[in-house]
Amino acid sequence: MKENDLSARLLDWYELNGRSLPWRIKGGAHPDPYAVFVSEFMLQQTTVKTVLGYFERFMRRLPTVESLASATEEEVFSLWQGLGYYSRARSLHETAKTVVRDHGGKFPRTRAEVQKLKGFGAYTAASFLALAFNMPETVVDGNVTRIICRLYHLTAPAASMKKLIADKAVAITDCRRPADYASAIMDLGATVCTPKKPQCLLCPWQSACLSRGRPDVEQIPAQSKIAKQEKSGAVYLITDSAGRILIRRRSEKGLLSGLWEFPWTAEGCLPLPLAHASDLQITHVFTHIRQTLTIYCRQTDESPIADGIFVAPFELDQYPFSTMMKKVYRKALAAGKI
Ligand code: SF4
Repeated sequence: MKENDLSARLLDWYELNGRSLPWRIKGGAHPDPYAVFVSEFMLQQTTVKTVLGYFERFMRRLPTVESLASATEEEVFSLWQGLGYYSRARSLHETAKTVVRDHGGKFPRTRAEVQKLKGFGAYTAASFLALAFNMPETVVDGNVTRIICRLYHLTAPAASMKKLIADKAVAITDCRRPADYASAIMDLGATVCTPKKPQCLLCPWQSACLSRGRPDVEQIPAQSKIAKQEKSGAVYLITDSAGRILIRRRSEKGLLSGLWEFPWTAEGCLPLPLAHASDLQITHVFTHIRQTLTIYCRQTDESPIADGIFVAPFELDQYPFSTMMKKVYRKALAAGKI
């Protein structure tokens, strides 16, 4: 089947089956590039289902690029709280400031300019330009990679065939309706050509697909396995005699930067005096790290760390915490330790 026929079939399928999502419309570019911008950053490494509620709340509170640019980092982080990967929130905020300061509040429309903005990699730039401005860009994410590998029965690890996959994805892209095409191929990957149990009988590309009906279809694309790094550290829930709990703000750089936390260390222990050993633990999985934390609880009226502040438990929700820290708190609470 020719590339034109493939894209035509996909677009016909999309007309009838495409998902209705608040950051895109069928038939062309979304009227508000800011909405596309916010959604693109939220959707990096997060599912559509999870993003929906966050997106709506964020857009209600900060409905324009100007309102985001003038918001405090604390406000942006609290709207982001629970989505994880907080560096995205920081990049989103910084980019909004750049767009207001350097572009008069209007998002640039060329690949070169967009990729100069913080947080825009190749995929995000392509998807943003296609959905916000109907520019002829090809998106190649995990979904598209899976579909292309299956369509052409490419069985080597996807990481070793990036150029081949991108070339094939570009060849199929419909340059007359790039916004619809980008949405359509993402929907196909999310709802039909899923990692497990692809619904080949519902697929608009079933007659062209070289993997349909093959026993190895679920194993495509092959992954090169990267073992997660195992880390074992400690976290300290330190309360004072008034029942307030010690927290601190993480530095501006690195993993979880800018968020609030209970004092912790990724490996080993902090040099804090401990009342007793603890068998209370949580495990949290980041992209490449499996982090185990042993939870130590103790009481003291003097903060053993210079940058710590004591806050009442009912005030904790005013401070943006990472999912890992919330897990620590819930675990200690359930064990009756705090
Ligand atoms: S026919 Fe099946 S394997 Fe092939 S692209 Fe469609 S859903 Fe994926």
